[in-house]
Amino acid sequence: MATEPKPRPLPRCPVCGRRASAEARPFCSPRCAQVDLGRWLSGAYAIPATEEEKAEEDEDRG
Ligand SMILES: [Zn+2]
Repeated sequence: MATEPKPRPLPRCPVCGRRASAEARPFCSPRCAQVDLGRWLSGAYAIPATEEEKAEEDEDRG
């Protein structure tokens, strides 16, 4: 019983949600890849200042 290789279903384009293409996966097209890259970069630059919860340790001075 030979196991025939199944064509793995391509993931969906994270940008537009269409079926990704083998060429530009995981995107459907190089264009979407650029869009995603642009988003990522812009997002990286526009990261909102996260509120870091600083646990201030109140040491009781005796
Ligand atoms: Zn796409």
